[in-house]
Amino acid sequence: MQSTRLLDTSIRVDGQRLWDSLMTMARIGATPESGVCCLALTDLDKEGRDLIVRWAKEAGCTVSVDQMGNVFMRRAGRNLDVPPVVTGSHADSQPTGGCFDGIYGVLGGFEVIRSLNDRAIETEHPIEVVIWTNEEGSHFAPAMVASGVFAGKFTLDYGLSRKDVDGKTIGEELKRIGYAGDVPCGGRALHATFELHIEQGPIL
Ligand SMILES: [Zn+2]
Repeated sequence: MQSTRLLDTSIRVDGQRLWDSLMTMARIGATPESGVCCLALTDLDKEGRDLIVRWAKEAGCTVSVDQMGNVFMRRAGRNLDVPPVVTGSHADSQPTGGCFDGIYGVLGGFEVIRSLNDRAIETEHPIEVVIWTNEEGSHFAPAMVASGVFAGKFTLDYGLSRKDVDGKTIGEELKRIGYAGDVPCGGRALHATFELHIEQGPIL
């Protein structure tokens, strides 16, 4: 069966709105050198997550949090029986992070949702924007542990029991900041995933 798809190349995101959102986020954990310090599962991480979740709800998304604290903000699609197209990145930073690393991928994906809303465009698949917990690994080693659990590379117990230098575990700190979700981590189909990320090169 053939279906006709029209690709409307006139659709643009709202660059100013994306910029404003990035600059609002950059105030959370801002450093004097115009970077950010927002380590995973700290009070600042909670503040950033809370703000993005509020924006997502205002945009009509349903928000779910899995057992590793990964946050999924979902815009429904036309077809209820197909898996989502997923985009997103991380909201934690290195101790001397830049204000676009990670968060550009989250808010860039979210701007796609806002732009689709502006035009009342219905997509075939649901779209989900994800915040992956502890991508950097600077607070809890290893890096990418929560996306690793989602992908089946690590067990849930392994992920939740990772400790920081003070002996606090990811599981404890997720509970403390209110992001210990009950949705199973992983084990579900994704139609496609995209991650928008700043260049990681010497001329950054
Ligand atoms: Zn990054």
